[in-house]
Amino acid sequence: MSDKKKNPFQNLLRKMQEHAGTVVGVLSVILIVALLCNWIITARESSAENAPLRNLPKTVKTVLSGAYEINTEKQRTGSIGANASGPQVYRPNYRQPDTHHSRMQSGLWNVGTGKTVYLTFDDGPCENTQELLDILAKYDAHVTFFVTNQFSEYQGMLQKEAAAGHAIGVHTYSHRYERIYSSPGAFWDDFNRMQEIIQAQTGSTTNLMRFPGGSSNTISANYCDGIMSELVKEATEKGYSYCDWNVDSTDADGDPDKDRIAQSIMRGIRDKDIPIVLCHDLNHETIEAMETVLRWGRRNGYRFAALTTDSYMAHHGVNN
Ligand SMILES: [Zn+2]
Repeated sequence: MSDKKKNPFQNLLRKMQEHAGTVVGVLSVILIVALLCNWIITARESSAENAPLRNLPKTVKTVLSGAYEINTEKQRTGSIGANASGPQVYRPNYRQPDTHHSRMQSGLWNVGTGKTVYLTFDDGPCENTQELLDILAKYDAHVTFFVTNQFSEYQGMLQKEAAAGHAIGVHTYSHRYERIYSSPGAFWDDFNRMQEIIQAQTGSTTNLMRFPGGSSNTISANYCDGIMSELVKEATEKGYSYCDWNVDSTDADGDPDKDRIAQSIMRGIRDKDIPIVLCHDLNHETIEAMETVLRWGRRNGYRFAALTTDSYMAHHGVNN
């Protein structure tokens, strides 16, 4: 009886002894391959190609070496959403380097630790903003709102955004391309109207701004040649920090989908050392994606922060 019970165990021990040599051999091969891969990666990182960047901290390196791909070449001039009465959505479709590399090199930007994420929400406030604020509060996340007056009945949300510790930037009052980009004067008139609303609602003006369509937009060329070059110059002279983005949530693409939006944001955050994520609170799918993004971010040690004028500002580069 006891022999029968013993035998299977003894058999197993014997087999293990017989194959011990093979197991050690396989483990050695795995170890050698892993060491080899590590050596190749280290060698590539310090190759001549990256030599000018070698002395910079890791957080700056990726931003400096990466171009931000906005989309494809096929619609070089970009496009406006079809609905003429609703909010205008502009899709830039070209590749742009981040033109602020040199300023980062000179140490003017606060580059953070590589674990800070800047979510930005454009075109509101609107009917979804309260729901977004509730989700953000739940995760102790702070974001930046680039605001408009397209839905004037929600102006009061500006006060709530500011009170919750979020940053507010001007995204123009009307967000109508044919109006704001018809001349620099028209732009600043529209811009200042929004600034007055922000001041009335929050008690102070803001130094943050985002150009509708981004600073790289070419749609403005339909209304005024060279206007973006002029506006970028004037914005700087007036003391504004304008911020584009280097991660697109894809929530302004046709057929927005909450899973795709969440995936696009999380992939972008992983890829960028200082992710500045373009989102729109106008889109309810984006609000639905937030829970996934914020839960994932918290699990992975990311901090969601509001932009300040000391933050790194992604700049696409001017094309008009
Ligand atoms: Zn916008």
